[in-house]
Amino acid sequence: MAQDRAREKQGLPDPATNYSDWYVDAILRSEMADYSPVRGCMVIRPYGFALWENMQAALDARIKATGHKNAYFPLFIPEELLKREAEHVKGFAPEVALVTRAGQEDLEEPLVVRPTSEAIIGTMYAKWIQSWRDLPLLINQWANVVRWEKRTALFLRTTEFLWQEGHTAHRTQEEAHEEVLRILDLYRDFVETELAVPVIPGIKSAEEKFAGAEATYSIEALMGDGRALQAGTSHDLGQHFARVFDITFQDLDGERRHVWQTSWGVTTRLIGAIVMVHGDRKGLRLPPRVAPVQAVVVPIWRTEEELELVRDAVQRIQRELTSVARLEVDWSEQRPGWKFNEWEMRGVPVRLEVGPRDVREGRATVVRQDTRTDPSGPIKEQVPFDALGRRLPALLDEIQAAMYQRALAFREARTHRVDTIEEFTSTLAADRGFLLAPWCGDAACERRLKDETGATMRCLPLDAPPEAGRCLVCGKPSSARAVFARAY
Ligand SMILES: [Zn+2]
Repeated sequence: MAQDRAREKQGLPDPATNYSDWYVDAILRSEMADYSPVRGCMVIRPYGFALWENMQAALDARIKATGHKNAYFPLFIPEELLKREAEHVKGFAPEVALVTRAGQEDLEEPLVVRPTSEAIIGTMYAKWIQSWRDLPLLINQWANVVRWEKRTALFLRTTEFLWQEGHTAHRTQEEAHEEVLRILDLYRDFVETELAVPVIPGIKSAEEKFAGAEATYSIEALMGDGRALQAGTSHDLGQHFARVFDITFQDLDGERRHVWQTSWGVTTRLIGAIVMVHGDRKGLRLPPRVAPVQAVVVPIWRTEEELELVRDAVQRIQRELTSVARLEVDWSEQRPGWKFNEWEMRGVPVRLEVGPRDVREGRATVVRQDTRTDPSGPIKEQVPFDALGRRLPALLDEIQAAMYQRALAFREARTHRVDTIEEFTSTLAADRGFLLAPWCGDAACERRLKDETGATMRCLPLDAPPEAGRCLVCGKPSSARAVFARAY
């Protein structure tokens, strides 16, 4: 207990001065995740996993509503399959974990622990697709993947992580391209609506695209420290994998042709995005739509008599609100102030305080956690007990909307138009964020910017207005502004 008291007093590191320690502490102390005995791996604890399950449900519904079906492919891939697509294997080789020995024998053929599933799924598609009638084939899987990362960070980059990966095959290039953009917009809608994180959808540069893809599209989000996070990707695979794995179909005219493919994924790193976009010095602030606990009731009493009074009222509230919100009641023997801190740390969007005076007046004190660090203090309202069932869901919607608007305003304030390398460098040093800069499209210019500033090309926004200019590196003509940033 003494330790708890010390912890409470200590609080979290200040994100304004020590962002990375704040990030790690916010995750560990809210009990979302913990380090594991395997370096680079992490344990997702029940609170973090409940968040992931809510995210998963919201995304899975969208994936199914657009005609995709879930399946499951094996964790192990024969090494030979991965090696078939040259660019693909080159991209993943440094991060691949290989099983060479099992069941007390050396394996004849080493097995790759999947870093992604194009190779195994392509192999199966070659078997399943015979005719144009088999197309499009639209499959998604929820799975874990392993990429042997040297530098890891909780949720953002771990050796093993959870994701969904969609893999589709189409009759025409146009259909495949439509799918790539449909999914990109589905991701945008999911991340903006459910996670209250605004994103920029766009196309990646050739340098930054997925190994083996024709083109990669992504949604890019801005974190609280002004660094970018790639929040989801959708790849146009063209016919690369179809040729390598010989995925062909008999077309309407009787000819055999290769299919056109896409693949796309989002991962548990989105949890890192939620922490960094919404969190503050008091801890997490979870968007109501995916928060494991949407409202916490903190009963307040001193005497036995008061306890009895409060217990009755709280039990009635609980019965009524359980059907409208994910609710938790904290009956622990801690002081109210301790409980407030603890639930603030965990980012529960709404706190309901019920003390003896509240009960006598027939109402609860409702505190909006998204406003808790506002200079004017948190927004509180007194809500009559019998109105809580209507007010709470409406309030959760208001909080969700306000969180999105706050994140959007932050991003807009940290988005700068720059036209020269000098401006680029000084802006990045003074106010890190998204930099919109004219760029000729040449990889050499992109590399020079990266070497000199550490910033990478995030994407060319899909809705970037055409704007004739001069590349900030080489001075050659450019037709639009690309988004650059230091990134996770
Ligand atoms: Zn250039």
